[in-house]
Amino acid sequence: MRTRLAATRRLAVSCLIIGVTGACARGRPSPAAVEPGRLPTTFYAGGPDCAGGPPFRVHEYNADFFILRQAACTNFEKPFLYLVFGRDRVLLLDTGAQRVDVATPIDTLIRTWMTRHNRAAADSMQLVVAHSHAHSDHVAGDSQFVRRSATTVVGRDTASVRAFFHIAHWPTDIGAIDLGGRILDVIAIPGHQAASIAVYDRRTGVLLTGDTFYPGRLYVRDTAAYAESIDRLSAFTRTHPVTQLLGAHVENTATPYRDYPEGTVDQPNEHQLALYPRQLFELDSVVRTMRGRMTRTALRDVTIWPVTP
Ligand SMILES: [Zn+2]
Ligand SMILES: [Zn+2]
Repeated sequence: MRTRLAATRRLAVSCLIIGVTGACARGRPSPAAVEPGRLPTTFYAGGPDCAGGPPFRVHEYNADFFILRQAACTNFEKPFLYLVFGRDRVLLLDTGAQRVDVATPIDTLIRTWMTRHNRAAADSMQLVVAHSHAHSDHVAGDSQFVRRSATTVVGRDTASVRAFFHIAHWPTDIGAIDLGGRILDVIAIPGHQAASIAVYDRRTGVLLTGDTFYPGRLYVRDTAAYAESIDRLSAFTRTHPVTQLLGAHVENTATPYRDYPEGTVDQPNEHQLALYPRQLFELDSVVRTMRGRMTRTALRDVTIWPVTP
C-alpha cells in the first residue's frame, strides 16, 4: 500500500512540477484526442513451415505506428516488435529472436515512411533501437543495427536504459524520449527482468508492456520488484488515457484460462494481442492479495508464473 500511494503521489507531483498547463496538459492527450489505429482480428504467425514466407508479418496500426511479428517458423517465441515514428526520430522497440533478418524490413518501412512524407534521405531520420528488456528473444537482431548510419542502439543494462531515457530514480521515476512532436513516456518495470520498461505513446494511448504483461505466462523472477512494477504501471494507467496494452508475445489460447504448452510453434487459435486496463487492474489486485507469496495462478487472460532466478 505504501508503494502504491508513493507511486500515485510521484505521478501527481511530476505533473505539478511540469505544470498542469504545461507538459501534463500538452503531453497527455484527453481521451477524445487520442490518435486512432487499427489492430487485426488475429496476429497468426503461421506454422512451422516458412514456405518462402517473410520472416516478419508487418501490420500498420496507423501511418506512424507499425507492429511486426516474427514468424513462427523462424522461432517459437514469435515476439512482437514495435516501430514508432516521430518527426525527427523513429523508435524500434526490440529486435527479435534468433536467426532472422530484421534490418531489411525495418529499413524498408523507414524508406517507405520517408517517401510518403516527402522526406529526402533516410539518413535524416535517426533510428533509436531500444528494448522492452534484455532477454535474448528481444535483442538478437541488435548486431544488425550497430553499424547502421544515423542509428543509436541503447544498451541493455539498467544503467544504460536509465541514462538514455532520463529516469532520475530507478525504478520509481518516469522517463521519456521525444521523437520530434511525439513524446513517449518510459516506465521502469523490473521483475520479469531487471531492465524491463514499459513505453507509453501519448499520441495513440498505446502502452507497450514487453514480457511483463501480455496474454500468456508472466514469468516473474523478482516477485517483490514485479509486484511494485505492476502497482506502478496500474497507477500510471489510472492517470493516463490508455487505449490498450500491447506486449511482446501471445501464449494464451482464445479459450479463457488456457495457454498453449511452452514451446508451441503453431498457434492457430490464439488470444488476441491487446489487453486492456481492467485486466492490468485485476492482475494488480491479485498480486497484492498474494502479499509477496506469489504462486502460479491462472487469470482469465494471463497466468502469473513465478520462477527461480
Ligand atoms: Zn523476457
Ligand atoms: Zn520474451
